[in-house]
Amino acid sequence: MDNNIIEQKKYKIITYGCQMNLHESEKIGGLLCERGYTATDDETKADVIVFNTCCIRENAEDRAEGNIGALKKLKAKNKDLIIAVGGCMTQQKDFAEKLHQTFPFVDIIFGTHNLEDFGRLFDKKLTQKKKLIEVLPHEEAIKEGTPKCRTSFPNAWVNITYGCNNFCTYCIVPYVRGRERSRKIEDIVSECRQLVKEGYKEITLLGQNVNSYGNDLKDVDFATLIDEVSKIEGKFRLRFMTNHPKDLTEKLVQAIARSEKTCRSVHLPVQAGSNRILKLMNRRYTREDYLEKVELLRKYIPDVAITTDIMVSFPTETEEDFLDTMDLASRVKFAGAFTFIYSKRKGTPAEKMDGQIPEAVSKDRITRLIELQNNTNREQSKEYLNKTVEILCEDFDQKKGMYLGRDTHGRMAYFKSEKNLIGQFVDVKITKTGGISLIGEIIW
Ligand code: SF4
Repeated sequence: MDNNIIEQKKYKIITYGCQMNLHESEKIGGLLCERGYTATDDETKADVIVFNTCCIRENAEDRAEGNIGALKKLKAKNKDLIIAVGGCMTQQKDFAEKLHQTFPFVDIIFGTHNLEDFGRLFDKKLTQKKKLIEVLPHEEAIKEGTPKCRTSFPNAWVNITYGCNNFCTYCIVPYVRGRERSRKIEDIVSECRQLVKEGYKEITLLGQNVNSYGNDLKDVDFATLIDEVSKIEGKFRLRFMTNHPKDLTEKLVQAIARSEKTCRSVHLPVQAGSNRILKLMNRRYTREDYLEKVELLRKYIPDVAITTDIMVSFPTETEEDFLDTMDLASRVKFAGAFTFIYSKRKGTPAEKMDGQIPEAVSKDRITRLIELQNNTNREQSKEYLNKTVEILCEDFDQKKGMYLGRDTHGRMAYFKSEKNLIGQFVDVKITKTGGISLIGEIIW
C-alpha cells in the first residue's frame, strides 16, 4: 500500500429551487474546488455537505428541513463532517434562528447576501470549533471573480442581475435577495466570451427580471446586452430568464428578433388571467397588456415559443377569475406552462389576505388547467412530425437509453446514437410525438 496517497476531500451540495439557486451552488462548489475538494454524490463519503435552500415554494422548505434533520446520524458517526446551510431560507432571520435551535449540529449558517463569501466562512470553520452564523441584513455590492464549478455542460448560466424591485404580493424574493443590482455589461460579455471559448454551447442569462437589466446603470439596457453577447464569435445559443411582461419593450423584442444567437423562445410569466387578481398580485399589467406583449413577440418573431408560469387559487380567486385564466391560456396557446397552486409565503402581503381557497377547489382548478395545457402541448407536438430540427445534445437518459436535447424553441427531443454527442448540434428528424417531448432519428 502506498502511504503517500492522500485521499482527496469531498463535498456534496444539495440544491433546492430554481436555476438561480443551481448556479449559486456552482459558485459554492467553485469555492470548495479552489480549496482542493471534489464533488461526490454520496453524502456518506462527503467531508462537507452544503444545503442551498429556497423559500419560494413551501414544499422546498419542508423538504430542506427534513433532509437537514436526517444528517444528524451522519454527523454523530463523523464528527469532522462540516454541515453548512445557506440560501434564501436562512436569509430570513427567524428561520436562521429556528435552524440554529432545531439542528445544533449544523456548523455554518449563511444567507444569500454573503453567499460569495462562503469560502472565508469555511476557512474560519476549519480553524475553530465554534458554530458560525453570518446572515447579512442588507445586500452588498456585486462581487466579481467568484470561481464556479459548472455542472451542466454544454449549458452555462450567467447572472446578469441580483435581487428584485417588483414586490409581487405573493413573493418572498425581494425580501431575501434585496433590491435589483445589475452586473457591468463588460463583466457579463467577458464571462460569456470565456464560456464560448471553453466550448459551452448554450448560455442562459439569469435574473429575477432580466428585462429591467441596466436600470441601475448608465446607458445600457437588456436590448444592448443581447446585442453585445450576440456579437461573440462562434456557434452557441443564447437564452434568458426570467422576464416580466411590464418590462418587455418593443426595442427589446427587436433585439431578440435580430440576434441570430438568441433562441426563438421566451418565458413570459403571466401568473393569472383575471385583472382583479393581477392587481391583487401587484403584477402591474392587465390581461390586455399581456396579450399585447404576446402580439408584439409574434409580430417580430413569428415562430416564437412562449412559455409561462400560472398560479391558481390566489386569495379570493373566484371561478370567474379562474375562467379568465383558462381563457387567456387557450388564446395564447403556450408552448409550455409551469402551473402551481398558490401557497402562503411568510412575510409577504398575500399571507395576510382573507379569502384563502379551499384545497379541493384548488386541486380541481389546477387539474383543469393542466389538462388544457396538455392538450395544447399535444397539438403543438403534432406539428413537429416528420420535420427536421436542430437539437443541441445535452444529456443521456439512462432509462430510455437515448440522448436528449432541445431545439431553439426549447422543445425536448430524444434520439439514439452510438457516439457520445453531448455538446454537439445535431439534425434530428422527428418520427414520434407524444405529450411535450419528441422522439426522432439523427440525420447525418
Ligand atoms: S418579479 Fe415578482 S415574482 Fe418575480 S422575483 Fe420579483 S417579486 Fe418575485
